[in-house]
Amino acid sequence: MKYRYGNTWFDTVTLRISVGDTPEDCSAAVPPVPASEVKAVQAVVTRRCNLSCSYCNVMLSGDTPDDMTFETADSVIKAAEDASPGRLVMVTGGEPLLVPDVTFHILERVDAPKVLFTNATLVSPEIASELKRMRVSPVVSLDGTESVHNSQRCGSWARAAKGLDTLRETSVSYGISTVVSHHNHQNISTEMEELYSRFMPASMGFNILHWTPGSFDPISAEAYTDAIGRVFHTALKHGIFVDQIARRIDPIISGVYRHRDCAALGGKIVFHPDSRISNCISGREMKDWSGRMPVLMEYCADCPVAGICGGGCAWDAIHLGGEGKPDARHCMWVKHILNLFLEDVAKHFPKGPVSRGKLKKRYGCLVTRGGSALTGSIGH
Ligand code: SF4
Ligand code: SF4
Repeated sequence: MKYRYGNTWFDTVTLRISVGDTPEDCSAAVPPVPASEVKAVQAVVTRRCNLSCSYCNVMLSGDTPDDMTFETADSVIKAAEDASPGRLVMVTGGEPLLVPDVTFHILERVDAPKVLFTNATLVSPEIASELKRMRVSPVVSLDGTESVHNSQRCGSWARAAKGLDTLRETSVSYGISTVVSHHNHQNISTEMEELYSRFMPASMGFNILHWTPGSFDPISAEAYTDAIGRVFHTALKHGIFVDQIARRIDPIISGVYRHRDCAALGGKIVFHPDSRISNCISGREMKDWSGRMPVLMEYCADCPVAGICGGGCAWDAIHLGGEGKPDARHCMWVKHILNLFLEDVAKHFPKGPVSRGKLKKRYGCLVTRGGSALTGSIGH
């Protein structure tokens, strides 16, 4: 199928782009779905946290605030050993540095790539050195400059900034993960530039709020779409890797159709502190959500962005879209990013087909995580 935006054409299956001219042949079949090998192993080592951010989905899940045992941690290590080569191990919480013994028990025993999701308020020089030695890539939650961050994250900016400075002084490559909501969406470009120049992260992420029972109060789909569009332009201006953007642009540059946006659609195991396992961090049972891949959803049959979308977050789709439908917020912002991308291509390339090599030259910075052992998305 072919899709046109302005003066630019996009083959929705081969993901090839042509400026001005209509592509000759747009009849390629969608590539087969790759087997669902385990690509991601996630350990929720504790449900406790030293902060209590208003939108925290761990806090809102209603589970008991318990810690992982060493026995369950050993199951995590075994699952990582048995997983496909190149699988990602993610250690998260709550705040995982509240239980350093279990956290480092896992991180010490699994090979890279491995990511620690933390609020960074407990990062000491000793912890930073250990993370460096173990080749761990931390991803730190930071929602913007001091007053913006403090408005939602319990006044923790100074402590988080100190933790980030310590990581940087220890030459640990880290990412910053930002929740985009009422407190920061209007000034997101400025907040992003300030964070980037102050902390020089290897990657950034700008997340829409996941569905939670009870107090779910996200910004509108339009507001998030507008914000992520501004993130796209800021990323391009400074050459910043942004997880949500990279996952959309990488299929176009590499030519690899994106069937699954999240490994929860096939290929993820999450270990919870009470030893339950699930396919999704928000769920508590192992479920087969492969039917939520766009290629298998009737709703997605004529969608122009199906090859770069991957279906988005299945948890949100189930709770906000319903049976057989995606999360409409995801569809809206992914289409907007494709349109902005095609608009930019039209501005910078002459009439005719645009090769993947040429695209890589201009947009490679958006899909390469700078200065890190990790080269791709780490799921901010
Ligand atoms: S953007 Fe929405 S409609 Fe399109 S493929 Fe993705 S989930 Fe389906
Ligand atoms: S389905 Fe959504 S909530 Fe679950 S692991 Fe994936 S992105 Fe996270």
